[in-house]
Amino acid sequence: MAEVVLHQVSKVFPGGVRAVDRVDLTIRDREFVVLVGPSGCGKSTTLRMVAGLEEVTEGTIRIGERVVNDVAPKDRDIAMVFQNYALYPNMTVYRNMAFGLMLRRKLAAWDHPLGWLISRRRYRQARDERRAIDARVRQAAQTLGIESLLSRRPKALSGGQRQRVAVGRAIVRDPKAFLFDEPLSNLDAKLRVEMRAELKKLHRRLQTTTIYVTHDQEEAMTLGDEVVVMKDGVIQQAAPPLDVYTHPVNRFVAGFVGVPPMNFITGRLENASGLWFRSAAANLKLADSMAAGLKSLAGAEIVLGVRPENIRPGSALDATLHVGVGVIEPLGERKDAYATLPDGHGLVCRFDSSIPLREGENVDMQIDMNRVHFFEPGETGRNVSLSLAPA
Ligand code: ATP
Repeated sequence: MAEVVLHQVSKVFPGGVRAVDRVDLTIRDREFVVLVGPSGCGKSTTLRMVAGLEEVTEGTIRIGERVVNDVAPKDRDIAMVFQNYALYPNMTVYRNMAFGLMLRRKLAAWDHPLGWLISRRRYRQARDERRAIDARVRQAAQTLGIESLLSRRPKALSGGQRQRVAVGRAIVRDPKAFLFDEPLSNLDAKLRVEMRAELKKLHRRLQTTTIYVTHDQEEAMTLGDEVVVMKDGVIQQAAPPLDVYTHPVNRFVAGFVGVPPMNFITGRLENASGLWFRSAAANLKLADSMAAGLKSLAGAEIVLGVRPENIRPGSALDATLHVGVGVIEPLGERKDAYATLPDGHGLVCRFDSSIPLREGENVDMQIDMNRVHFFEPGETGRNVSLSLAPA
């Protein structure tokens, strides 16, 4: 096991695409870090550079004590699991899992049943190596619940079983770090959730440093000790999942993390017996704690962000929006309502199913003003209320 450190790492592809831009990232020993972001944000390229499958254009990557920029992938002591599993179709599950270890054996040449005729000592060593590999494969198979599949070939397995074999092949190696590139995206939704839980359990047990790439923010939030949100090759925020959710550093992170996403309304702050947020359709008074910190921004354009669960039917003094309710999606205990403000702006609200609300109604929605965020304008506008929001 080892720490993985990226220092000012960039990747520029031939043709000039800067896929990764001066990334600084430390994945601590035993940590499970998830790189997440929209398609093309550079997460796979970052992972592939750690694996050695892409050259680093600038910066350094260190695994454990060693800078690995010029170390071949096979010598980096990492194990990678790919989206398509990359199993050998003509080998059994057992061989798929054992193959990498077999290749690394020094004494394979003495495997022949008559090897002892040449050197008894070497023959015994080779036999012991083979037994050790066998034990590791069976142990990994047991950990993953695939012992009964060891003699099958990949084409005779379901997607979930293939995925387990791919993970098994990685864990028998006992590497310094696991690298996962969207390993669950070929599975159906139910299996994905199950495998997610299994990967988490596996990491608890093995405690191997893990870097995991996904575009699915829910997967990132549930799996990672730390979540790294990327956009255009740049890290936007690296923090524990709950922190990213409750304290997004900018509008991009706030909008990317959370389903349904955070609502954004553009307006201005105005000083008038308290600090107010005003837009064509909103007139909301800021909570005292926030007003004190944001007073100096009065007059400037600003974007209010509010999560769907912090809006619910009903009116509250100085914290009410009038909306027309469009579609309502029942989700068991909760409901999502897709509503529209008088200026045509959409607003999603999530609230308890017991609250009666009908599609087509015009109603008041109250905003929890202690839980709103304020961002500078622009796609990655800074969260200016970051230190003012309650945890
Ligand atoms: P996805 O989720 O779609 O896999 P990603 O976040 O993993 O996306 P990367 O695959 O890392 O993104 O790609 C980052 C950027 O680099 C993209 O703009 C992509 O088009 C570009 N890119 C990737 N590989 C190459 C290549 N071999 N040559 C040129 N550009 C590339």
